[in-house]
Amino acid sequence: MHLALVRSLSGAKINFFYDSANFAANNFATFVLLLTRFVLMEKECALSPLDVLREYWGHDSFRPKQLEIISSALDGLDVLAILPTGGGKSVCFQVPALMKDGLAIVVTPLVALMKDQVQNLNSRGIKALCVNAGMGRREVDLALNNAAYGDFKFLYVSPERLGTRLFLQYVQEMNVSYIVVDEAHCISQWGYDFRPDYLCIGKLRELVDAPVIALTATATPEVAEDIMYRLGFRERNLVKSGFERPNLSYLVRKCEDKLGQLLAVCSSVAGTGIVYVRSRKKTEELASYLSANGISSSFYHAGLGGQSRSDRQARWKNGQIRVMVCTNAFGMGIDKPDVRFVIHFDVPDSPEAYFQEAGRGGRDGKRSFAVLLWNSSDIRRLRQIATVSFPPLDYVEEIYHKVHVFFEVPYDTGAGRQLKFDLEEFCRHFRLQRSSAYYAIIYIERTGHWTLSEDVDIDTKVQIRVDRNELYDIDFPDPRMSQLLEILMRKYTGLFSWPVPIDEDYVSGLLGVPVGTLRQLLYGLSLEHVIKYVPCDRATVLYLHHDRLRPKNVNLEPDRYAQLKDAFMTRMEEMVRYVQEEDVCRSSYLLEYFGQKDSVDCGTCDICRAAKKASLVSSGPQENEESVSKAIRDYVSSREDRYDLEEIALLFPSDHDGNWQKILRNLINDGSVPPPQD
Ligand SMILES: [Zn+2]
Repeated sequence: MHLALVRSLSGAKINFFYDSANFAANNFATFVLLLTRFVLMEKECALSPLDVLREYWGHDSFRPKQLEIISSALDGLDVLAILPTGGGKSVCFQVPALMKDGLAIVVTPLVALMKDQVQNLNSRGIKALCVNAGMGRREVDLALNNAAYGDFKFLYVSPERLGTRLFLQYVQEMNVSYIVVDEAHCISQWGYDFRPDYLCIGKLRELVDAPVIALTATATPEVAEDIMYRLGFRERNLVKSGFERPNLSYLVRKCEDKLGQLLAVCSSVAGTGIVYVRSRKKTEELASYLSANGISSSFYHAGLGGQSRSDRQARWKNGQIRVMVCTNAFGMGIDKPDVRFVIHFDVPDSPEAYFQEAGRGGRDGKRSFAVLLWNSSDIRRLRQIATVSFPPLDYVEEIYHKVHVFFEVPYDTGAGRQLKFDLEEFCRHFRLQRSSAYYAIIYIERTGHWTLSEDVDIDTKVQIRVDRNELYDIDFPDPRMSQLLEILMRKYTGLFSWPVPIDEDYVSGLLGVPVGTLRQLLYGLSLEHVIKYVPCDRATVLYLHHDRLRPKNVNLEPDRYAQLKDAFMTRMEEMVRYVQEEDVCRSSYLLEYFGQKDSVDCGTCDICRAAKKASLVSSGPQENEESVSKAIRDYVSSREDRYDLEEIALLFPSDHDGNWQKILRNLINDGSVPPPQD
């Protein structure tokens, strides 16, 4: 009852639908109270943000800074929120949007996340929809029409859609509550992931009078200022949460035998882990090395098929696979709280990327380790990568034309086309080196010529190819086929005119068969020439913003190219300094990079540990036992008496005699510390 009421209060319509059976028994007083409140407040909803959080999410309190961001947004101010990954970003815009009239437009570049969030909202009874790169024009038209005239609260949009005429037409019909900008660092060219499509948000602001809620997990102070400037903030308003991860120990290890170290960490730390490497080939090699050594593992990279990727991801998530060896394609949007270690087998090229990836460890607040393995050849390789990532501009232009030739797009045509792009096939066709071609394509994206959306889910589509009347005369080999057609005709419109996207889970549920059977039935119907069946797919889509330009007319903005390369080099050198650092606490180093001054030393990174050890050594054997005992007691009390043996072992990495174990045993025996947890 409450839920229905809240929904109708926050929506424009007065629509008291409730569970009547419950209602009679339920306390009438609450209903009267809510009704009175509703009458008093007329349009705006008087429920507090906490009420909304309770009703929709079932949580009893906000996480740090969430309420501050929400209040700012409810006051109609533009706000930039910098929250660490896992800090609960979505609640910050979903709560205020539910409390206001109208529809929130949410811009996000992560198509997979977009789908998850929409499903998640729908499952909570909140109406949401999305427009992304995998959709055809008709689908987009339908979705935008719904957004403008339907009773929706959230519209998720991928950034390259913002500049299209269709979107700009519809947006003027929408009653927009907020413009939400997720991954807001993408708007800054000084950020590590600039996307020119984000600049369209500036234009959107001119058309729509609604406050902006911008969110990001990684922004240096310069990038934060740039974000507020680019988004046209009426006044500067930054809410930033602390980036400390007290339960995450950063360990940087210089070693020649990386494989040995890898194995040592995977064997000594229990629980789930992630190993990041740079190349796809290496993911396979390392996973088989770990498996051969008795560690349950698998590999993941963007070159695997969609089905295979989701299978591996699911098996890792539910614990069937302990260690996932992967490229940076893995992890985005995966919310697994109990990741105990994240190992970087190669040095990442920016502190931003490193912080994000390492930050996937220990979301549940328990002790976890972020281990970075390196040696001098890594530094050499890292500097070479800069050359590959920024190929010469005439090569970039060559790739521009080759892509058009590949798809047979003539000069002066092509604007608005969506091409299913297979990079491997493209490179094979022209005998190109994969990574140079990739970076050329990415740079062309940055100049706004096209957008490359990787891993886009493309819905199954169905079009009925026979006349409606004929349909009843067909003798189907399987009686479920006619049932299926009936369901489709009842639930979807336009089936006789064009390929209509269908929701396989929904339809198979209605038909009472598994999705696999549904696909067989659809395939069977297509063999009978009754329908046109386009199976769902996961693909990379290249969206052309402009007609193909003639040679020498392609403006690749050499000045900007030079600046971007410069910014890339600066971030990379920062990473080199990070691994070579010998004095500054790892946590403090990273926090300072992100603009958080005077943070306290973490006490658990390799630098802090080395400092402790040095003081142990200098204090001699007599005091040594006392210091070990003190270190254990301090650690256990800092963990509020919850710890396990591996954590303690990591405090004393070079204690091969296991002295600490004797000392710990004594401490447990005399009751100074509780026994460890399993
Ligand atoms: Zn430290």
